[in-house]
Amino acid sequence: MKRRSFIQGAGTALASSVFASQSPTATKPNHPVAVASGNGLKSVELAVKQMLAGGDPLDAAVAGVNLVEEDPEDTSVGYGGLPNERGVVELDSCVMHGPTHNGGAVASLRNIKYPSRVARLVMKRTDHVLLVGQGALEFARAHGIPEENLLTEKARKIWLAWKESLSKGDDWLPPEDLTAQEPWLKKWYERFAKRHTGTINCCCVDKNGDIGGVTTTSGLAFKIPGRVGDSPILGAGLFLDNGYGACGSTGRGEANLLNLSSFLAVEEMRRGASPREAGLAACKRIVEHNRDPRLQKADGSPDFNVKFFLVNKAGDYAGCAIRDRGAKYAVCDENGPRLEELTVLYD
Ligand code: ASP
Repeated sequence: MKRRSFIQGAGTALASSVFASQSPTATKPNHPVAVASGNGLKSVELAVKQMLAGGDPLDAAVAGVNLVEEDPEDTSVGYGGLPNERGVVELDSCVMHGPTHNGGAVASLRNIKYPSRVARLVMKRTDHVLLVGQGALEFARAHGIPEENLLTEKARKIWLAWKESLSKGDDWLPPEDLTAQEPWLKKWYERFAKRHTGTINCCCVDKNGDIGGVTTTSGLAFKIPGRVGDSPILGAGLFLDNGYGACGSTGRGEANLLNLSSFLAVEEMRRGASPREAGLAACKRIVEHNRDPRLQKADGSPDFNVKFFLVNKAGDYAGCAIRDRGAKYAVCDENGPRLEELTVLYD
């Protein structure tokens, strides 16, 4: 035997013995399952419908979140999302496909309503994983994706109200009686003290146990232009391993970037944790590492929230969060679409 073929043969034997012990033992789900953030009730329904018709779990997840990306009423995702501090909508998204263990992402993408579709194109039609800013836009243009103004009148008015109520030390003045003219803006004035966040994540498992996931967002409202959150970063806002499960996230992206929380949760599932145990482990890691007093409540717990949506290869699912007892996430399985309560660490 030539030395080269011996080494190759040994490699194969080694690979099969190492990986044999890691091969998934989970049973397949008896029905496709989709989980999503609370704004994804219609998304999980559509995703499961597509998987029942034989659709790929990633395509099903992307079709599901497209409903929210195009919804002008959802101010945290796609068209109608709240803009950056200069009034420009910048979108982040990533996708991951279990059977190929491939992924794609775009960050700070302007003018494109469905960033999740561009992320999927990055995965399928480039040898890269992440494109940002102008490069991501030019890539979308190359694929003939139409550009449009994503700033709705509603989002522009919220942004202007934020800008006008920011500081007494600048020259932007609110109208004397803005809330009487536009009563719906009142609640936004009250929310400026707390930074507005929101995103949609959707993770799917089909009846073969194959997994797909997507996260898409306009990110933190009024962010510094160019700020990239966790949503387009594989391992932070989304991760999956086709042998075990998927985890996606919403909430304070910086906390997920500093803890690679979705990767951590999927690793926990690889080690045998249930989706619920894995999600809570990710929450606890964020709490453990949150050392900045600026980001702590009086009891030392985080002064922000992060939520996780998880599904494993067998179709078990969970939603977990650091806080916000009573908050819901979306799930769809053989029992149809519904909202269920998140398991939380703090009220
Ligand atoms: N995770 C998103 C970000 O940090 C925002 C959110 O989900 O609220 O960009």
